[in-house]
Amino acid sequence: MAKAQADQNPVPDAPDSPDAPTGTPAGSAASPNSAPTPGASKRTWQDVLDMGKRSDMPEGLWMPCPECKAMLYTKNVERNLWVCPECNHHLRVGADQRCEQLCDTGSFEAMWENLCPVDTLEFVDLKPYKDRIKSEQAKTKRNDALIAGKGFIKGRRVVLACMDNRFMMGSMGVVVGEKLTRAIELGTEKNWPVIVVSCSGGARMQESTMSLMQMSKTSAALARLDDAGGLFISVLTDPTTGGVTASFAMLGDVILAEPRALIGFAGPRVIANTVRQELPEGFQRSEHLLAKGFIDRVVHRNDLRSEISRIIDYAGK
Ligand SMILES: [Zn+2]
Repeated sequence: MAKAQADQNPVPDAPDSPDAPTGTPAGSAASPNSAPTPGASKRTWQDVLDMGKRSDMPEGLWMPCPECKAMLYTKNVERNLWVCPECNHHLRVGADQRCEQLCDTGSFEAMWENLCPVDTLEFVDLKPYKDRIKSEQAKTKRNDALIAGKGFIKGRRVVLACMDNRFMMGSMGVVVGEKLTRAIELGTEKNWPVIVVSCSGGARMQESTMSLMQMSKTSAALARLDDAGGLFISVLTDPTTGGVTASFAMLGDVILAEPRALIGFAGPRVIANTVRQELPEGFQRSEHLLAKGFIDRVVHRNDLRSEISRIIDYAGK
């Protein structure tokens, strides 16, 4: 129950959002923590709740940095891989851009693109899940929240999967779990390193138990990869939460994270209420998790390609 409940936390439930899913009691109890931890990044859990409404990548010529508010020339930010040149804030990028950024030019080949989500439960919250899928597909021109395939990173053959937060907050349903599993199995079969870039609000509540099952399915596939001596590099980006953190994202042989990414399972208020203690500064940020040994390295987006290729060489893959 705890898992299912926590996964509902990052769901945007603001009444002004036409897309807002169910405002469940669990969701509203866990929602907006508007008071950020002192000294921590100005962004809060609320930003995760807002992620369905907000796009970090505006289309205009100039854009304000969401962190330092500096006016930036959009082309410059794009050239800098969507990192603010002023304050190094890492903006969220879509899965297609992420694949382009990581792989050698033109080398990425998406696979299993025909898989589509199915509303087996005929789930209805504020609107039927069936309609929600349709509108998300129309908005993003994608079937679901994950791109997986093969490519090269600095000449090293890899299997790469990237989550897309623009599609239902990057939530993991059956399609995401299935594509991930196929990607891991391809890596196992070919002995190619598997790289997964997580960016997700957690398991997809509209698919209920079916989405929770993806946690064990992906984890089991990773266990088989491990038995075969494969390499799995997990890259955590802002935000990685809920059932994704609780399964494959934290099972990397090496776990990398982008600077100041929000990484956690449940929201800070839920945790504070449960443990009845004040949470430390910078709680659930990459740097804090690095200090506590949860992740192996915090890597700037500009260095991600070289870091991944170095690890692949180090592992002898
Ligand atoms: Zn900035």
